[in-house]
Amino acid sequence: MTAQAEWLGDARPLMGTEVSVYLWSDDPEAGRRALEEVFDEASRIDRLMSTYKDASEISKINREAANQATVASSEMFTLLGRALEISELTDGAFDITYDSVGQHYDFRERQRPDDDTVATEVVNIDYRLVHLDEETLTVGFGRPGVRINLGGIAKGYVVERGVEILRSRGIEHAAVTAGGDTRLLGDRRGRPFMVGIRDPRKDGEVAIRVPLEDEAISTSGDYERFFDEDGVRYHHIISPATGEPAAGVHSATVFGPDAVITDALSTSVFVMGVERGLSLIGTLPDYESIVIDAAGKVYYSDGLMQPETPSTE
Ligand code: ADP
Ligand code: MG
Repeated sequence: MTAQAEWLGDARPLMGTEVSVYLWSDDPEAGRRALEEVFDEASRIDRLMSTYKDASEISKINREAANQATVASSEMFTLLGRALEISELTDGAFDITYDSVGQHYDFRERQRPDDDTVATEVVNIDYRLVHLDEETLTVGFGRPGVRINLGGIAKGYVVERGVEILRSRGIEHAAVTAGGDTRLLGDRRGRPFMVGIRDPRKDGEVAIRVPLEDEAISTSGDYERFFDEDGVRYHHIISPATGEPAAGVHSATVFGPDAVITDALSTSVFVMGVERGLSLIGTLPDYESIVIDAAGKVYYSDGLMQPETPSTE
């Protein structure tokens, strides 16, 4: 049997979603091993960052950090620092303490917090209540009741790490996806990868296709985790200002060089809405965005606008 260069791929349920890896390898056996390494890395990151696992580092921090400064791994400390920077950048639209309210949702069981619970917990949503000490690598919370959840960047981190692993194994063409986050390595051998943005209200249908290479793309949608009740969609992206699911947008897509950033920014643009979201993206030269609002209308960031065709008279 002769080993031939080929595209390899696999998809597995991980992190409450599907993680997939697709790569071109000159040596299929080495390609398979690299693929396994990416899935192993996704599992490792999930064990570190899942709030559903009592033994995870994030669960330990959530149990202890309101009582005492809690030592974090340098990996966790760095990621928390990045999350807080994005909170600053987005004026608090992205906020890992959303989980003070978020923990009271169970989408499968159609459970949501009542108004009193939201009112009590919303005061615990404020990224400024998360204190990082560079000297001691510790995390402390400013008051009891604060809880953090990295669900808004963990998948971006997984695909970024996945691509780093593949690159270090000599792979030059790949796509790594976790839920709504994709990081591309190189191109599809001579042409760009085509990444689809889902139609937010038509299951399985693609609304827009974007040609991309060597970039990250993230979509946040109100169709990922949700239930409908009395005509209201209760979904998983929480507005830190109100403690309620953010309204006005059906999906927000961001693309650019870094998947951790695109992941956090897609959640942020979803929360900020079309106008504020796109004006934020306009200040970031490397990042572009496509937003579909609640009426199904599609908006593009300025960098994606086609130049005006000169009128011929
Ligand atoms: P998905 O790919 O699951 O749609 P998103 O990138 O849209 O993921 O992130 C949604 C997740 O982010 C939620 O499931 C939750 O864990 C977390 N989250 C929700 N609201 C916020 C917020 N305002 N700031 C930061 N993270 C949030
Ligand atoms: Mg996101």
